[in-house]
Amino acid sequence: MTVTLDQNVETFIGIPRKMFINGQWTDAASGKTFETPNPATGETLANIAEGDAEDINRAVKAARAAFQDGPWSRMTPSDRGRIIWRIGDLILVHAAELAQLESLDNGKPYAVALGADVPLAADLFHYMAGWATKINGQTIDISVPYMPGANFHSYTLREPIGVVGQIIPWNFPLLMAAWKLGPALTTGCTVVLKPAEQTPLTALRLAELVAEAGVPAGVVNVVPGYGETAGAALAMHPDVDKVAFTGSTEVGKLIVAAAGATNLKKLTLELGGKSPNIVFDDAEDGAIEGAANAIFFNHGQCCVAGSRLFVQESRFDEVVDGVAEIAKSIKLGSGLDPTTQMGPLVSSEQFDRVTGFLESGRIDGATALAGGGRFGDRGYFVEPTVLTNTRPDMKVVQEEIFGPVVVAEKFSSLDEIAAQANDTSYGLGAGIWTRDISKAHALAKKIRAGTVWINCYNVFDASLPFGGYKQSGWGREMGGEVLNNYTEVKAVTTLL
Ligand code: ADP
Repeated sequence: MTVTLDQNVETFIGIPRKMFINGQWTDAASGKTFETPNPATGETLANIAEGDAEDINRAVKAARAAFQDGPWSRMTPSDRGRIIWRIGDLILVHAAELAQLESLDNGKPYAVALGADVPLAADLFHYMAGWATKINGQTIDISVPYMPGANFHSYTLREPIGVVGQIIPWNFPLLMAAWKLGPALTTGCTVVLKPAEQTPLTALRLAELVAEAGVPAGVVNVVPGYGETAGAALAMHPDVDKVAFTGSTEVGKLIVAAAGATNLKKLTLELGGKSPNIVFDDAEDGAIEGAANAIFFNHGQCCVAGSRLFVQESRFDEVVDGVAEIAKSIKLGSGLDPTTQMGPLVSSEQFDRVTGFLESGRIDGATALAGGGRFGDRGYFVEPTVLTNTRPDMKVVQEEIFGPVVVAEKFSSLDEIAAQANDTSYGLGAGIWTRDISKAHALAKKIRAGTVWINCYNVFDASLPFGGYKQSGWGREMGGEVLNNYTEVKAVTTLL
C-alpha cells in the first residue's frame, strides 16, 4: 500500500481491522467491534474487531498448538533468525505507511514516528535475530559432596518458556509490539499479543508483516480488545506460561493478582515512573534543551519521562525559565501536519486525567511558568507545562501524570539530591547533567532506577536492558538480559 502525507483516513480502508488468529483474519466471536478515534479531532478512525475471553481462548489454543507441534519449535535457530531479520527489513520497507498509521492512531508527529518509533522497531528485530543462534546452556563441573568418588556430566538447557501473553500500551504502539515480539520469537516462544484499545492499528499491520516474513501460522496471534476483558482474560488464562506487560503500575498489580489466582504464570512488568532529571550548577547549557526533551518528548506520554526536574540552586531560575521558554515555543497540532512539534494526547480519558492533575496542582498552590491547561477547543491537546512552587506531598509531585507536565524543584548538594531523587515509589529512569563525570558516576550508583542517562536523556537501544526498580516493574526488556525472561533453564545430570 502506498500512501502520501495528504491522504486521510479513507486511505486506510485496506488496513487490517480484524483479529489475527492462527494465521487467519477473523471477526470477534461476539461479532462486536470498537472504535479507535483520531486524537487530533476526536473522530472515528476505524472500527476494529473487539476481542474478549472467547477470542483469547482461540488465540491461546492456536499459540499452544504452534508451540507444541508447529514448525516454529522445530526450525533451526539460524532459520528462525533469518525470518526475524526479515521482519525488521519489512518494517523499514513499510516505514512511511507505519509512521502514518502511528501518527493517526496515537497522535504523535509523523516525523517522530518515522524518525524514532519505526527504525527502533526494525532495529529491535534485527538485533534479536542475531541472538537466535546464540542462546546456549552451559556444561557445569559438579561436586556432590555426599557421593564421594562418583563422576557426573551436567549441563543446562535454555528452553523457550512457552505460550506468552503480551499486553502493550498506547504510547509507542509499534515499538512496544516489537519489544515484546522480538525476544519471544528469538527464543522460540509463541505469542498472543493484545494491543492497547486506543492504538491497535500498527500491531495489526505488523501481524501481516510478521506472516509475510515467514513466521508460521499460530506463532503470533494479535487480539485487539479492551483491557478489562481481553487483557484480563489473557492474564487469567491457565494455559499461558508467561505474561509480559507494559502499562500502569495499577494494572500491573491486577496482572500479578490474576497470575497468583490462576497458574502462577511467569511475569515481566514494565510499569510507571516519576523519573528525576538532575541538573547540577556546572552543567553545559544543553541541559536546558535536554530537560525539555526529557519531559516533552512523546507529549510526556513516556513511562520514563523526566517529570521531576531538580536544578541546583544557583542555576534554578535560568534553567527552569529556559525550559518554560521552550515549552511556550512548542507548536501543537495534528501529527500529520509537518510543522507540528507536539500532537494531542492519545484519548479523551488521558486528556481528562492530565488536565485533572493540572487542576489539582493549581488548587494545591503550584505556579505554572508555562502552560497549565488545554490547548485549542478540538481534539485532546494539552499545553506543555512547567510547574514550580510545588511541595513534595503534592499529587503532581508524587504521581505519574503521563502528560507534558514537569515539576521543578531546587537542590543544594550531591548528598541531598540522591535522597530527593529516590523519594518516589518508582525507579525507572533518571537523568544527570554535569561536566564533572566522577560526580555523575557517584550519583548514578546511588540512584535506584533501571536506567541512568548522563548528559543525555531518552537514549534507547535494542542492546541496552530496560526496566524498573521498585514499583516500576519486574524484569528487563531488550539486550541479552530479556532472553532470561523468555526462557526456562533445565539442569540435566548424568551419572557416568
Ligand atoms: P493506561 O492507563 O495508560 O491506558 P493501562 O495500564 O491501563 O495504561 O493499559 C496498558 C495495557 O493494559 C492496555 O493494553 C490495556 O488494555 C491493558 N489493560 C488494562 N486493564 C487491564 C486489566 N485489568 N487486565 C489486563 N490488561 C489490562
